[in-house]
Amino acid sequence: SFSLDGETAIVTGAAQGLGKQMATALTEVGADVAIADVNLEKAERAAEELDGETEVIATEVDVTDESSVEGMVDAVTDRLGPVDVLVNNAGIVENSAAEETDVESWRRVVSVNLDGVFLCAKHVGQQMLERGEGRIVNISSMSGFDVNVPQKQASYNTTKAGVRMLTQSLAVEWGDRGVRVNAIAPGYMRTDLVDEVLAENPEMEETWLENTPMGRLGRPEELKELVVYLASDASSYMTGSTVVMDGGYTS
Ligand code: NAD
Repeated sequence: SFSLDGETAIVTGAAQGLGKQMATALTEVGADVAIADVNLEKAERAAEELDGETEVIATEVDVTDESSVEGMVDAVTDRLGPVDVLVNNAGIVENSAAEETDVESWRRVVSVNLDGVFLCAKHVGQQMLERGEGRIVNISSMSGFDVNVPQKQASYNTTKAGVRMLTQSLAVEWGDRGVRVNAIAPGYMRTDLVDEVLAENPEMEETWLENTPMGRLGRPEELKELVVYLASDASSYMTGSTVVMDGGYTS
């Protein structure tokens, strides 16, 4: 079933963008949701907006910092009960030519997009394994499959491919212990992250549209049903998969 009635979910980076849409989707099928974001003020505003039929709380986390992740998981468990669903959505992009990228920029992207997914999966995973029950949805990207010419974002592409393999690795380790791990690889969805890329390179939009068979960017809310599917028993025999949703871009 698609219901998450009475369950607890954490969505990282859910103060805005795709994470906020996915958090909304989980509340609509009955889950209590923790909006875990490095921007607490924005997370609080989002939580206030979504709070309604189910309980929605804001909690501060820097996913790159293990003690911050541990504290967040404890705080959510105290307030909402054990975690049934984790959506690893927090992610950043930095655009620069590889030969000009300084190592600090490389490490920032790796630490949010890859360390962050690992650390949240590790600490929520420990709890899920103990209970023998849980679902994790990681947000990769179509950039983890194909390099989007002419964009220069080697660090981003590399981390998003890494998220796919981490998803498979965790799925295999935890497959017979009740914890399913899948990923979503979205194409271009109109959020602040994409608007920032377009602000630097407005001509990029035309290239994107030319390369997208459906001829348009995705709408963030188009992710809602897919995250509910992967987070619920509707996908009970799926683990280790990365589902691409990109208007045909990588086809
Ligand atoms: P966004 O920039 O709008 O939102 C990202 C959120 O993550 C923000 O609220 C930010 O505060 C939070 N965040 C950043 N660093 C953090 C940290 N260290 N700890 C906790 N939270 C942190 O981005 P978005 O477009 O909504 O993207 C969300 C996810 O989807 C990312 O992983 C992104 O790579 C992926 N994605 C986006 C697109 C797209 O087209 N928008 C496409 C493919 C994949």
